[in-house]
Amino acid sequence: MADENKADKLSTLGEFAFIDTISARLDGSADVLLGIGDDCAATTIPAGEVLLTSKDLLIEDVHFKREWCSMSELGHKSAAVNLSDIAAMGGKPRHCFLGLGLPPQCRVDEVDAFIAAFIATMSAAGCQLAGGDTCASRAGLLISVTVHGSGVASRLCRRDGAAVGDDIYVSGTIGDSAVALYLLQHEQAVPPHLLRRHHRPEARLALGAQLAGVASAMIDVSDGLCADLGHILRRSRLGAEIDSSLVPLSQPLRAWLEQHPEQRQLALNGGEDYELLFTAAPAARAAVQQAAATAHTPISRIGTTTATPGLTILTAAGVSRRDNPTGFNHFAR
Ligand code: ADP
Ligand code: MG
Repeated sequence: MADENKADKLSTLGEFAFIDTISARLDGSADVLLGIGDDCAATTIPAGEVLLTSKDLLIEDVHFKREWCSMSELGHKSAAVNLSDIAAMGGKPRHCFLGLGLPPQCRVDEVDAFIAAFIATMSAAGCQLAGGDTCASRAGLLISVTVHGSGVASRLCRRDGAAVGDDIYVSGTIGDSAVALYLLQHEQAVPPHLLRRHHRPEARLALGAQLAGVASAMIDVSDGLCADLGHILRRSRLGAEIDSSLVPLSQPLRAWLEQHPEQRQLALNGGEDYELLFTAAPAARAAVQQAAATAHTPISRIGTTTATPGLTILTAAGVSRRDNPTGFNHFAR
């Protein structure tokens, strides 16, 4: 009997019973005066702080393939990629809204696994689900997340704050997720660490919060290290020089690259690392190291910003080349 229920389709459960299953998973939050169940949510942020808002769409067969990840991984990732944007501002996540386009033939237990993981990841970050919208989708699965955070206006880590001669840093390691995606696309076995980095990214919230008021500019690496650095450089009207040998790579990625040296560029140009890429004045080096230590997050200094526009990458061969940084472009063919 229980198994029959598990195989139930959304078309049987219906929209409102489905929304009830979401509410049932939520605890209260002091910030959310009014959550699911009314025409609007009513929420607050601490006095003296500004509201940060970010939105991400995840579309089946554009951003993910059902056969490559579980619904639980998808729920986690839908939350993490949004939380990462709040981290990249140096903010604190507060509440979120979940828009879902669901094919009516979706199984209730699968959607439930998605919701459970989404709420667990958001709750662990102190972010309360406060509302959303649910529709039937005639195409695939569509997930639209809006996250609200807050921060002190003067301490926000914007993209346009870098100055000439600033140090450039990146957190954690780069390239695992892009290589995992490459291997999935080529139907090859994916080393477990790389697969985990692709399906279960972690927003660097602790580091982001510590860098508020310390970093001169910050972005999360979603499009690729070079492309996202390019966003900071364009907004700050600067160029940069980075040393590719300083770009931190995980041990499993280094092992894989030894076998596939022709794929080295994937580390610099692949996306979805959700690490923090930031700049800071050389005078702030001690403060940056203190921020990383407090957040228990490794960081690497990989280069310097320059007055000359463009991105120069020093490669292992000692060659220096100027790149026009580009990343994933949804409308490119
Ligand atoms: P309305 O018709 O006013 O848009 P709905 O019937 O769509 O209201 O939604 C009822 C309540 O359920 C609202 O509080 C809405 O925010 C919430 N809700 C609907 N879908 C979701 C969802 N996917 N996640 C969280 N809350 C949701
Ligand atoms: Mg609605």
